[in-house]
Amino acid sequence: MAFLFGVFKNLFCIFAQIISVLEEKKIIITIDGWSSCGKSTLAKQLAKKLGYIYIDSGAMYRAITLYFLRNHVDWTDGKEVTEALSNISLEFEYNPASDKSEILLNGENVEYVIRDLVIAEKVSDIAAIKEVRAFAVTQQQKMGEKKGIVMDGRDIGTVVFPDAALKIFMTADNAVRVERRFKELYDKNPNITIEEVKSNLEMRDYIDSHREISPLKKADDAIILDNTMLTEKQQLDMAVSWAKGLI
Ligand code: C5P
Repeated sequence: MAFLFGVFKNLFCIFAQIISVLEEKKIIITIDGWSSCGKSTLAKQLAKKLGYIYIDSGAMYRAITLYFLRNHVDWTDGKEVTEALSNISLEFEYNPASDKSEILLNGENVEYVIRDLVIAEKVSDIAAIKEVRAFAVTQQQKMGEKKGIVMDGRDIGTVVFPDAALKIFMTADNAVRVERRFKELYDKNPNITIEEVKSNLEMRDYIDSHREISPLKKADDAIILDNTMLTEKQQLDMAVSWAKGLI
């Protein structure tokens, strides 16, 4: 009996060691960059390839914006902002139909509503608010506690996870970015014009890179990925090889 107990105990220890080695190998991967340069496409595919969790941090700022607009929150008033944030709960839930994690705002799936241009027109102003950033960043850092995540956004490699093992900074030619976003939005709203999309991207990039708190910028140790001339597969292969070199 004592012999069997000893064998089981040893097996358990070996198993626990294997698990801890596997867990230690998991890293955090950050993908930052300009609007509509394909960050979420790459982040989603990379996470899937590595068996990691993908977190779309932009969806959090968009969902907060949706809440502010729906509830007529005056976001120039710090007190109103703090009060509104205390009533917001954000979660991600995997949807097998779309094969991705979708965002829930107070339990409601808002993944598709938040992609509207009405939200895109306000989100960068709201994302520049100190209280909003603190609210989102705290939750993002919690999501990364166990590592094994790919998170995309604007300040992920600089502020949210400054010690991440792999940081990618994405960029692409402006005209290519406008074209990509236009195609995406046109399917849902054929009234949209290319000028509207272009001016929205330019405005968001300007606000995101000039704001006082956590402006969009490349982390010193980030690798630049310009995907103007790359296919989705080519950019994925590059990112997978960088990640595999670290895991
Ligand atoms: O990534 P996406 O375009 O959906 O992000 C929407 C907006 O949210 C960005 O234009 C930016 O203003 C804000 N954002 C941010 N920090 C992040 C992610 C997004 O300020 N980490």
